[in-house]
Amino acid sequence: MMKNLLRPALAGVSLLLAAAQAADRPNIIFILSDDVGYGDLVCYGANQVKTPNLDRLAREGRQFMDAHSPASVCTPTRFAFMTGQYAWRHKGTGIAPGNATLLIPVSTPTVPSVLKQAGYQTGIVGKWHLGLGTTEPDFNQEIKPGPLELGFGYSFIIPATGDRVPCVFIENHRVAGLDPADPIRVSYGKPVGNEPTGLTHPERLIIKADKNHSQAIVNGVSRIGYMTGGTAALWKDQDIADVLTRKAVAFLEKQKAGTPFFLYFTPHDIHEPMVPHPRFRGTSGCGWRGDVIHQLDWSVGEVLNALDRLGFTQNTLVIFTSDNGGAIKNTYDDGTNHLHAKQPPNGTLRGQKGSLYEGGHRVPFLARWPARIPAGSKSEALFAHLDMLPTFASLAGTKVPAGGAPDAVNVTAALTGPAGAKGRDSLVLQNNNQAPLALRAGGWKLLFKPNGTHELYHLAADPREEKDVAASDPERVKAMAAQLAKIRGTP
Ligand code: CA
Repeated sequence: MMKNLLRPALAGVSLLLAAAQAADRPNIIFILSDDVGYGDLVCYGANQVKTPNLDRLAREGRQFMDAHSPASVCTPTRFAFMTGQYAWRHKGTGIAPGNATLLIPVSTPTVPSVLKQAGYQTGIVGKWHLGLGTTEPDFNQEIKPGPLELGFGYSFIIPATGDRVPCVFIENHRVAGLDPADPIRVSYGKPVGNEPTGLTHPERLIIKADKNHSQAIVNGVSRIGYMTGGTAALWKDQDIADVLTRKAVAFLEKQKAGTPFFLYFTPHDIHEPMVPHPRFRGTSGCGWRGDVIHQLDWSVGEVLNALDRLGFTQNTLVIFTSDNGGAIKNTYDDGTNHLHAKQPPNGTLRGQKGSLYEGGHRVPFLARWPARIPAGSKSEALFAHLDMLPTFASLAGTKVPAGGAPDAVNVTAALTGPAGAKGRDSLVLQNNNQAPLALRAGGWKLLFKPNGTHELYHLAADPREEKDVAASDPERVKAMAAQLAKIRGTP
């Protein structure tokens, strides 16, 4: 009798609990910046540039000191973030050309698809760089599959990178602002159109470029690849940050209390060609690279201001990180490259973008969620973008479908728990394609060299990777090589 009386009451309690959990589910904004190095923010030690908005995230949230992009270049990091899979397991996930087909099969569980399934409004604004379509895309037609087919409800993207054609934005399935009477043609082989190129008309360039970046000229900047047509749709480099920021804020303004949202915001600022808006030029004293750091900081500030204005701040998890370490020597030369030394992109770390040394992949990682993350906390946990899918799923009260995110672990404890909570035990790092790799385990890192040899560093004691101890510690080399072989073999 008692049991029967209690049953409806208990059912009521569990319904209430479910409702409370739903109300607790955070909005999530994952800001994946481009080529921002470990030394580029004031909160990580920069002393030339000013980054007040990013430092605000650190002050009001948690700063990770040992966080890593899964790769030291764009495409494989973005692949790993979206899918919870190591990109090196999948051929063809290296730096994607501007006419690449979609690199992620649409049946793959992704961060946006899992969150959308859980009731989130999902959107992407910014650089994509994971390919589009099933055959080489025709930019005059509907372009799909792409972000919308992978779980985003709204998409406004730079299809590849700022230094690759086509230099247009794509909104959902269409090139934004395209005049059908002026169709776009793109080629990564033979030239198309009769326009001058960087090679034939270097006097038309506002910044010098190497040979690889000396094809189509758009806005006085030569690019990788040829394009002609689509004049009305061409972006203006100096306005990209303004356009993307406006779109990101517009997405936030469309959201309603009670329905959680996920925004994947991927600014392009620190990736070459760096063309700051005139209002930021000369503000850093470190050349255009420093100026675009100011531009990026402004952009993040606009997003934070929008959250404040809309009343979303308290229950929104905002993460800021980078897709790889900072580049030191650029393929474009705007005349200020010599000033990079004033603002070392990767601080005191060895290596840079494209390297397996720490400068290639140890990146800033800031997480603010006033309702759950203690303000001003610092974490030494080993942390990676790879793990966001099961972590966000857990925060959203859902699970990744069976077989999804096979390389990822749920790191909610390190994200929101006590600052001393553990992250990953180990992490495999890559550069561009399948090899070479590096294995991080505990305080140690084993680098596999292309010639078959190894370097071993005790990061805990030697964070700058100055002393290779492979020769003096062969047992550890052997054990770590065996550990990597095992990870390669599973799942
Ligand atoms: Ca990048």
